[in-house]
Amino acid sequence: MVRTLDEVERVGVVGAGTMGSGIAQVAAQAGYDVTMRDIEQDFVDSGFETIEDSLDRFVARDSIDDEEKAGILDRIEGTTALADLADCDVVVEAALEEMDVKQDIFADLEAIVDEECLLATNTSTLSITTIASAIDSESRVVGLHFMNPVPVMEGVEIVEGEKSSADALELAHAFAADLGKTTWESDDKPGFVANRILMPWINEGIRAFDEGVATKEDIDTGMELGTNVPMGPLTLADHIGLDICLHASETLHEELGDRYKPAYLLKRKVAAGDLGKKTGEGFYEYD
Ligand code: NAD
Repeated sequence: MVRTLDEVERVGVVGAGTMGSGIAQVAAQAGYDVTMRDIEQDFVDSGFETIEDSLDRFVARDSIDDEEKAGILDRIEGTTALADLADCDVVVEAALEEMDVKQDIFADLEAIVDEECLLATNTSTLSITTIASAIDSESRVVGLHFMNPVPVMEGVEIVEGEKSSADALELAHAFAADLGKTTWESDDKPGFVANRILMPWINEGIRAFDEGVATKEDIDTGMELGTNVPMGPLTLADHIGLDICLHASETLHEELGDRYKPAYLLKRKVAAGDLGKKTGEGFYEYD
């Protein structure tokens, strides 16, 4: 049995990158003590910088004041030692999207946290069941798939692995709700709900552009105004990162076959190092 929500005090986050720093932030904003772990101090420091920048935007919008910002930052401890997660009640893993990396992390975590700690992974595309198979206490492993950027996006996808227990799923939903998020549940099938539907949409947008159906601007405008989504496929791909889109598409292609084949132009852009907003150029150019 994992703990119930009212017994959760300390949250561990593995990985202080884009997602890990966001998860640490929203947990601390909800009043939890947080331990955020990365493999090098530089990565931990950069996680704190991301959090501070994000909190500054909340302050600028008057959503929080300077005192609250300081309180949130105070509740987050950074570390490079996995052993510092020993007293966590919930741990969310947000490290690299590689099966062996995640399995090693879960095996290490199982050895240090107590048996009532919920172990969650933020994986976008990997099987929860396969990640959980690396440990004995598989029933406490669930997918807790936050959307990017975590402090802004309301949705969290809860993924049920083959062995996930009812109490682990219940805590995952309750914990996400306590962070102000709205959840939906997916079975442990490739891409879950969100990426299974999103990735072919993005790839089709890229193909439509590559095949000269319309300009990139018109493809994006057509989808925004035609289907009432906030961003068209090319703008969204640039925001997610073209390397991340390609990686997710390749995983889905491997698991689900040709209808998930990544667009040729997506592969060419990634090969050229044009990864979207983060590199200053993807389908569009950014400052
Ligand atoms: P990122 O590259 O920004 O951050 C990953 C961090 O994990 C890095 O700082 C890295 O140093 C660290 N790391 C690697 N091995 C580690 C280990 N053994 N212990 C602790 N830290 C370790 O990646 P990200 O975009 O934050 O993605 C993290 C996870 O979240 C991935 O599984 C990804 O698929 C998933 N995800 C990403 C997005 C997105 O839009 N970026 C959205 C949803 C889910």
